[in-house]
Amino acid sequence: MDNITNTTNSRKDFLKITALTGAATLLNACNFFDKKENQSPKSEARLNKPIVLSTWNFGLAANDAAWKILTNGGRALDAVEAGVMVPEGDPTERSVGYGGRPDRDGRITLDACIMDELSNIGSVACLEYIKHPIQVARAVMEKSPHVMIVGDGALQFALEQGFKKENLMVPDSEKEYKEWLVKSEYKPIANIENHDTIGMIALDAAGNLSGACTTSGMAFKMHGRVGDSPIIGAGLYVDNEIGAATATGHGEEVIRIAGCHLVVELMRQGRNPEEACKEAVMRVVKLMEIRKKDLKDIQVGFIALNKQGEYGSYCVQDGFTYAVYDENGNNLHTPNSHIVLKKEAKPKLDTLKK
Ligand code: ASP
Repeated sequence: MDNITNTTNSRKDFLKITALTGAATLLNACNFFDKKENQSPKSEARLNKPIVLSTWNFGLAANDAAWKILTNGGRALDAVEAGVMVPEGDPTERSVGYGGRPDRDGRITLDACIMDELSNIGSVACLEYIKHPIQVARAVMEKSPHVMIVGDGALQFALEQGFKKENLMVPDSEKEYKEWLVKSEYKPIANIENHDTIGMIALDAAGNLSGACTTSGMAFKMHGRVGDSPIIGAGLYVDNEIGAATATGHGEEVIRIAGCHLVVELMRQGRNPEEACKEAVMRVVKLMEIRKKDLKDIQVGFIALNKQGEYGSYCVQDGFTYAVYDENGNNLHTPNSHIVLKKEAKPKLDTLKK
């Protein structure tokens, strides 16, 4: 009886397979006539992985640390955390972590967030005295029932988790703060070092995406001010089916358009990473125009990476750089921008960031 059932099944299977093979041959033939020259079928597209990219010139050193993890088969999440910890821990980097510039009350308040391939998220904002806010953000993600903890609560949580309370004010910050107090003028300036963020996104060898973003925010900001960097969807977004994006620049403008979520959604709709970043930047431009604000006063830059390992960037005005580490090495890129400064007026990138 079993044999008969098997034979019947085998015959059914044979008929099924023959029919399917016929259909597949027919489909292939249709595709053949349909196919544009040089267009390789999607399944044959080569994946560029592992790969990591991050914002500004300090992204180069950050990428080095991330790459070590990625080339050893490590997880993108571990790579981005280790990567952004490099500028966070460097007292000469004046816009992130230790060495970050203070707010108008002389307090150094830090923002950071992290997101993995399963859409686990963690974030801290307005966190004081902790050198590596990205690690606290990860602890929020993995060891708390919440996704975002701010201010005193964030510090309390960090101390409970065993993080060390440290003075983050370096002598240069103290000096600049005293100078700033003379006029006490708050003027966010595009493209100089009074605000920069390390945003990092990576695709690991297993094909998974993660991202991290960390900053001291705008120098001399109002106490309690929070920018885009710790806000999932604004300063960072990861969708493991589509891609990842992170941002730098005037956080108020990035939040206004839910920037990084927008970039990822545009990639979902078929834009390549640069096109997606450009469309998001043009949304910023449009809203600045509607509100009759001078675009030259701001900078916003997005970097994006898709699931295939293709990457791109776009920014409001010249001056932004980003670093990419893949099989071609660790290289600095200058993205296209909406406002192209005249050659002679172009700021020297080296003077913007080491
Ligand atoms: N996006 C950061 C903030 O607004 C600053 C920056 O990247 O320049 O806090």
